[in-house]
Amino acid sequence: MTNKKGGITTISFDSDGTLVTQAFADLVWHEALPQQVAESWGIPIEEAKKKLFADYESIGSQRMEWYDLAYWIKRYRLNLNPKPFVLQYKDAVTPFPEVPEVLDDLKDEYSLIVISNSARLFLDVTMSCFKDCFLRTFSTVSDFGTMKDAESYRHVCDIMGIMPRQVAHIGDSFELDYVRARKAGIRAFFLDRQHRRRMRGRNFVADLKEFRSRIRR
Ligand SMILES: [Mg+2]
Repeated sequence: MTNKKGGITTISFDSDGTLVTQAFADLVWHEALPQQVAESWGIPIEEAKKKLFADYESIGSQRMEWYDLAYWIKRYRLNLNPKPFVLQYKDAVTPFPEVPEVLDDLKDEYSLIVISNSARLFLDVTMSCFKDCFLRTFSTVSDFGTMKDAESYRHVCDIMGIMPRQVAHIGDSFELDYVRARKAGIRAFFLDRQHRRRMRGRNFVADLKEFRSRIRR
C-alpha cells in the first residue's frame, strides 16, 4: 500500500451496527436461542425469553461469557452444536445500504480490515457476505480474549506490521470504537447513524459515505 494523505494505509471497521445491522445477532440471541430453551425445557417462549434475557443482563457485555454461545448452550444444558445452529440464520445478515459500494470503492486504495467484539463464530458468518473485501478480520473476544481496548487495537497493528497512526477505525460504539481506538493512537471515527449524540465532533459521521469523504479530504 502506498502512503496516503495523512499517512493512512489501512481502514478498520467495526462489524455490528457499522457494516451490518443487528438483525442477525438479534435473531440468534433474542429469538432462536430462547426458542431452543423453550423446546428443551418445555416452557413457553415468553418464559424462556424472560429467563435468558435476565441471565444475559446479569452476565453483562463486559464479560467474555456474554459473547460465547457455547457458554449459553452449556449453561442451559441444550443439545446444540453452535456452528450449524448459527449458520441456519446466515440469511439474516443485512449490510447497511451504502456499505457494499463504499467498501468496493475503498478496497483498491486502502487495506481494509475488521476489528469486532463479535465472537469468531458470528463474525465469520457476518463477513461471508463481503467476500474478499477484507484483508483480515479480528474478533478481539475470540482472538485475544478481551473486549476492544487500546491494547487490542495496538495488538492488531503489530500483527499487521503497521503503526496506529496509519490506521483509521470506524464504529458505532462511542467508547469501544472511538475513545479506545484514539487511546491507541489510531485515527478514530464515531459512526452515529441515529444521531444519538447531540454533540458534534470533527470525526463524527452519519454513514460510511460521509466517512469516505472525510478520509479522502
Ligand atoms: Mg458495533
